[in-house]
Amino acid sequence: MTRVYNFSAGPAVMPEEVLKEASEEMLDYNGTGMSVMEMSHRSKDFQDIIDTAEKDLRELMNIPDNYKVLFVQGGGNMQFAMIPMNLFRNKVGDYIITGQWAKKAFAEAKLFGRANALASSADRTFAYIPDCSDLPVDEDADYVYICLNNTIYGTVFHELPNTKGKPLVADISSCFLSEPIDVSRFGLLFGGVQKNVGPAGLAIVIIREDLIRDDVLPGTPTMLKYKTYSDNGSLYNTPPTYNIYICGKVFRHLKNLGGLEEMKKRNEEKAKILYDFLDSSKMFRGTVDVKDRSIMNVPFVTDDKDLDAEFIAAAKARGFVNLKGHRTVGGMRASIYNAMPREGVEKLVAFMKEFEEAHQ
Ligand SMILES: *Cc1c(COP(=O)(O)O)cnc(C)c1O
Repeated sequence: MTRVYNFSAGPAVMPEEVLKEASEEMLDYNGTGMSVMEMSHRSKDFQDIIDTAEKDLRELMNIPDNYKVLFVQGGGNMQFAMIPMNLFRNKVGDYIITGQWAKKAFAEAKLFGRANALASSADRTFAYIPDCSDLPVDEDADYVYICLNNTIYGTVFHELPNTKGKPLVADISSCFLSEPIDVSRFGLLFGGVQKNVGPAGLAIVIIREDLIRDDVLPGTPTMLKYKTYSDNGSLYNTPPTYNIYICGKVFRHLKNLGGLEEMKKRNEEKAKILYDFLDSSKMFRGTVDVKDRSIMNVPFVTDDKDLDAEFIAAAKARGFVNLKGHRTVGGMRASIYNAMPREGVEKLVAFMKEFEEAHQ
């Protein structure tokens, strides 16, 4: 068996310890004689799994008691619709457009009411985060929406926008559990789990209780109401049980490693190794403004398309896979999530140096 260094943006690398544990429990979970995927979601064993997962997540993120944690199917994209459907009262949402994912959320909100593009960094292919300290927030806005870490472009909000009292809604898909976050500054946080947490298809929503209401947009289906999940402990229907089980294992794993302070330290160190090299290289360069750099997704280019392609192929042959950048940026992107070992980044940088020297 050979494991590669997988720099995919998502679905992405998982902690090996978690995969091993899951494989050991595949045929017989906890003496039940069955796999978790064969188990009733109404069983005590599964109730323990989901309860422990929530408890560990609350502890890791220090989630205040007046916030609910919901496990929702449909991944990140379904939240683009659920947010306006559940949060629209005046039917106005203010969106800060910092990349494709924010743009998609913005387009989806337009299906249900008025969505304003409050600010945008489209003018420079989303290579920066706009100044959000004094934006013309709509008086009627039900919320201000951001994508906290921009997976495709490799930018992150180091400072949260001034929402002028409106609830802040954030997509944290690609920075979920990468560092501590002050949940109390948000009305709603959500993430598709397949970037930094678990298997695709599941989203975790962390929502302030007062935003969970019955009087959602008329016609909102039962399964698209936060209240349905909140009232039933995310067990109204059969939830994606196996995904929740794996996420729970990842939460426990992160706790054992020392929690989010420790992850932040590790992630910053890993990112620094790569950024330091990019800043010193004559062949490779990072594509975003230094002040807005993400520690999770690192896009870079050589400014020569053929050379980019040659690098990606050569890297793949050496076991560094999924380094091709998004088509709107070109070049390369290394996603260095929690589960990417430091050694993977060090070896990638050593290979980049070698490649650069060979092409001088
Ligand atoms: C990947 C991603 C999504 C989309 O998630 P799906 O689960 O594929 O719908 C949304 N937002 C961000 C920031 C992402 O990185």
